[in-house]
Amino acid sequence: MSGARKVYIKSFGCQMNVYDSNRMADMLAPEGYAETASPEDADLIILNTCHIREKAAEKVYSELGRMRLIKQAAARDGRLVTVAVAGCVAQAEGAEIVRRAPSVDLVVGPQSYHRLPGLLAQVHRGERAIDTEFPIEDKFDALPAPSREATRRRGVSAFVTVQEGCDKFCTFCVVPYTRGAETSRPVDKIVTEAQHLAEAGVREVTLIGQNVNAYHGEGPDGRAWTLGQLLHRIADVPGIARLRYTTSHPGDMEASLIAAHRDLPALMPHLHLPVQSGSDRILAAMNRRHTRADYLNVIARVRDAQPAIAFSSDFIVGFPGETDDDFDATLSLVEEVGYAGAYSFKYSARPGTPAAELADQVTDDVKAERLQRLQRSIDRHQAGFNQRCRGQTFDVLFERMGRHPGQIVGRSAYLQPVQVMADAAIIGEIAPVTITDLSTNSLFGTLARPVEAREPLLMQAGG
Ligand code: SF4
Repeated sequence: MSGARKVYIKSFGCQMNVYDSNRMADMLAPEGYAETASPEDADLIILNTCHIREKAAEKVYSELGRMRLIKQAAARDGRLVTVAVAGCVAQAEGAEIVRRAPSVDLVVGPQSYHRLPGLLAQVHRGERAIDTEFPIEDKFDALPAPSREATRRRGVSAFVTVQEGCDKFCTFCVVPYTRGAETSRPVDKIVTEAQHLAEAGVREVTLIGQNVNAYHGEGPDGRAWTLGQLLHRIADVPGIARLRYTTSHPGDMEASLIAAHRDLPALMPHLHLPVQSGSDRILAAMNRRHTRADYLNVIARVRDAQPAIAFSSDFIVGFPGETDDDFDATLSLVEEVGYAGAYSFKYSARPGTPAAELADQVTDDVKAERLQRLQRSIDRHQAGFNQRCRGQTFDVLFERMGRHPGQIVGRSAYLQPVQVMADAAIIGEIAPVTITDLSTNSLFGTLARPVEAREPLLMQAGG
């Protein structure tokens, strides 16, 4: 295949999918596909899907309706467009997708996307291609390194997948079924990827995995390394100034990882640590394998190691059997921890998960009312956290131009967007900013000292 073909990739859901979408683009570049932001221009449309919530899967089907119209319009102009579904919906539903959306030509699961060129060849021969296997070969070995230009376009902050799958089997979750058993990439491969990213101007790396702190990849000494050890190694990569990791399970916050929060200045003092519920009864029904006290103990140990730490979390309200008392326990946990932010969702039954079979489902009205109360409480804590930033001076990594001329947007250590007026050459730099004002979603400030910029990186303006 050659020439200027175009691929449009839309990511749904988590950072793992954003990473996978980038890697699919890297995989397709040598096949002659350039990325486009417009599905109307594309020869290949890939929806990289998420199955974590019912709404997310339904969104995919409604998006496929839109893609069908685009495909039909292209066909009227004599242009052949291939529509592919990748990611967790592809894995979970397989051929069912083609039955519900016959305009789909290709279905590929998250463990098989390195086979995309072969699957596309199959489609171009006039066949449908469906691959939802968990192949023996390691997809990461088959993926080409991203080009320097592609990395630069993607910005100064990058994700690196270090772990995939999950063995925890929380009763509400599809991940163990869609992403398979826990696997970890070897340390040297991750370090090489981080080095490539740093050489292309990346300053911040977020190590990602469905259960990232269960990381146990092979180290250069032939032993299984912990995430704490891996973070130490990546902190040594020249150019990488900031490290993060997500998403973690409280039960896997082992000692070396907690110590890394004390010992590694590059590790940002912000930890996303999902708890889902504050009630021991519900935690047990969710098969979370920890109690409220265990969770609070982890929070205390991390705070002890890094007093500046801020926490965020995930919550599910209205899990089957959740009573008013259970929900009150969740509210009281939010008060006790004082999160800097959190995501909260109404429980939605995922077919094939144990919780979907439970009899004691909570009505939607009750879920909606609880969600509102929980979100009010989370918002109050988040607003308080942001308010306390006013007048403070702290380091910001500048990522891109803002919507207005002269405006540059960066992120604090706590992932808050921070806007300043500055020269675009500052993008890619870390500089102290004094916070002068704030809105619901952003902090505004002024540079606390002039910054000597390195080679400028041009980022697109936008949201
Ligand atoms: S630990 Fe996370 S990914 Fe694993 S089953 Fe539970 S919710 Fe799903």
